[in-house]
Amino acid sequence: MITADFHVHSDFSDGADSLEAVAAEAYARGMTALGFSDHGYAPYDTDACMKRERAAEYRAACRRLREEYAGRMEIHCGIEQDLFSQEPTDGYDYVIGSVHYLYAAGEYLTVDWKREPLDRAALLLGGDLLSAAEEYYRLAALVAERTHCQLIGHFDLIAKLNERERLFDEDDPRYVTAWRRAADALLETGLPFEINTGAMARGYRGVPYPAPEICRYLRDHGARFVLSSDSHRKDTLMYDFERQERVCREEGFELVRPGWMK
Ligand SMILES: [Zn+2]
Ligand SMILES: [Zn+2]
Repeated sequence: MITADFHVHSDFSDGADSLEAVAAEAYARGMTALGFSDHGYAPYDTDACMKRERAAEYRAACRRLREEYAGRMEIHCGIEQDLFSQEPTDGYDYVIGSVHYLYAAGEYLTVDWKREPLDRAALLLGGDLLSAAEEYYRLAALVAERTHCQLIGHFDLIAKLNERERLFDEDDPRYVTAWRRAADALLETGLPFEINTGAMARGYRGVPYPAPEICRYLRDHGARFVLSSDSHRKDTLMYDFERQERVCREEGFELVRPGWMK
């Protein structure tokens, strides 16, 4: 049974709870390892990201908790780095690399939670929503080299709203070609991909990221995976892990201990 979770937000960025409250909940649940991964500073994302001047405070608070829980539960201090963020990531135990924005005609447009910026991206990119998806995967292919991450975050975030709103057909050859190209580029890095239950916890999707057919493609091409919850509240730590672990076993998705853990 997995008792570790490495994609966890606190109120240092857009999470609801303090680091201390999340750690206490994790420990009460019998977790053996907890990795914080608040959103690193990004000037176009100030609603969700950590304030630049609070980064050192965040790392110090993680360190304090690491000492407090030493011998009982591992605490790791990570960061979720957006593709377009230019902030340094030294001083963190690990980096999760994620694409949350498209950039078109001078505008950063989130793909994370609402329809309007997606429509805007489609318009600016001169096409339909599949054009926005193609641009998303063009960026996703670059996420490892741009963020120097150790873990690839929510690979198909662009499909977040698709289950409810049917924005585009995920079987469309244009969509499939786009994600396969990004997958092939990232597979070459050998980095693990997240299986991320965050959108399930928040009611957007019935399955984790990436979608099952993408996970199978990744599996068939040698990918390894790390299960994570992308929690923004302490009560969604390890969300649906038990069931997802079973799915991984049945499907042959190889779950690994992340490389930054010795
Ligand atoms: Zn993210
Ligand atoms: Zn996240």
